[in-house]
Amino acid sequence: MNFTVLCFQVYDPLDNQLPYYNSVKYFLTLLRNLGSKMAGMLIKPANLFLAGYSYLKSTLSGNAFVSGMPVSIGIELTNHCNLQCPECLSGSGVMTRKRGFMEIDIFDKLITELQPFLFNINLYFQGESMLHPYFFSFLSRTLNTHTVVSTNGHYLSEENSELLVKSGLNKLIVSLDGMDQETYSAYRKNGKFDTVISGIRNISAAKKKHRSPLHLEIQFLINSCNEHQIPDIKQFAHEVKASLKLKSMQVLNKANIVHWLPRKSKFRRYENKNGEFEIKNNLPDRCMRLWFNPVVTWDGKVVPCCFDKDAEHIMGDLAQDSFREIWDGPKYRVFRKRILSGRHMIEICGNCTSGLKGVRY
Ligand code: SF4
Repeated sequence: MNFTVLCFQVYDPLDNQLPYYNSVKYFLTLLRNLGSKMAGMLIKPANLFLAGYSYLKSTLSGNAFVSGMPVSIGIELTNHCNLQCPECLSGSGVMTRKRGFMEIDIFDKLITELQPFLFNINLYFQGESMLHPYFFSFLSRTLNTHTVVSTNGHYLSEENSELLVKSGLNKLIVSLDGMDQETYSAYRKNGKFDTVISGIRNISAAKKKHRSPLHLEIQFLINSCNEHQIPDIKQFAHEVKASLKLKSMQVLNKANIVHWLPRKSKFRRYENKNGEFEIKNNLPDRCMRLWFNPVVTWDGKVVPCCFDKDAEHIMGDLAQDSFREIWDGPKYRVFRKRILSGRHMIEICGNCTSGLKGVRY
């Protein structure tokens, strides 16, 4: 035994031969754990404050700067989908970006960096997340953060419903835009109404069985074909103990607006201004999402928000850079500045509901 080791053993005040050593060690470990837990608890609110402060300062001054990290993120597991909804870029087939499935390594890299700051993770963007062969592995990695999944409801078998309910997921959104096959598939092309209904019932039953706090939400996109069924969907949501969200419908192809527009103007996202249909939003030159809530595509590209469905505005690539480098990087800075100086000049921002009041019923 060398001399140093010998000295340390002889003079160590916390020599584990002393009777009080274990209690002191235990107490110190407790303090250390408590300290790191409290630090962890403080990081999120402190980050929220920083993000909010930089958003307000940028909006008021017109000069974009950012401090803090996002408080919420959308992550696309895949842009493949089993349906062919005509006003969806993925379903209608007009999406130009490559199709694929996210790799776990990219996801882990992102989550490891961002989870200390996040209050929320949306595990969806374009495509159907539950098509990912490792969907449940991704889900298990977000357990410490409030997590939301949105699905078209075709994969809610009894087995998957049990897994979802037991996974610790906080909120499940199921799209259901009609109360019979004909109305439903007017928009949800290839969709099977009965499958979705029994999927929702499976979730509801699994929730009851496990006394799960999972928030089940039915989302109903109001259009000209289904607006008469709002009372029916309300009744169904009540029956399966789900909340109901009525959403005005986004139309990507202006030529189709008249076809989809509901008769009741309160359900319309667009209004006729001088013979042209335009979004009701007055498009203020600001956007919180650029300071709070980015989106990452399946191949690790960071885009400004969920309206950039075809990833036209890529801010950076997680395969090359860390999230922070992208978030503070030149492309984001320029894009934030563009929004502050004239949001209407960016095409996706002119068909976006940020700043528009939701649908009331
Ligand atoms: S599309 Fe809307 S949410 Fe996205 S960056 Fe533009 S204004 Fe913000």
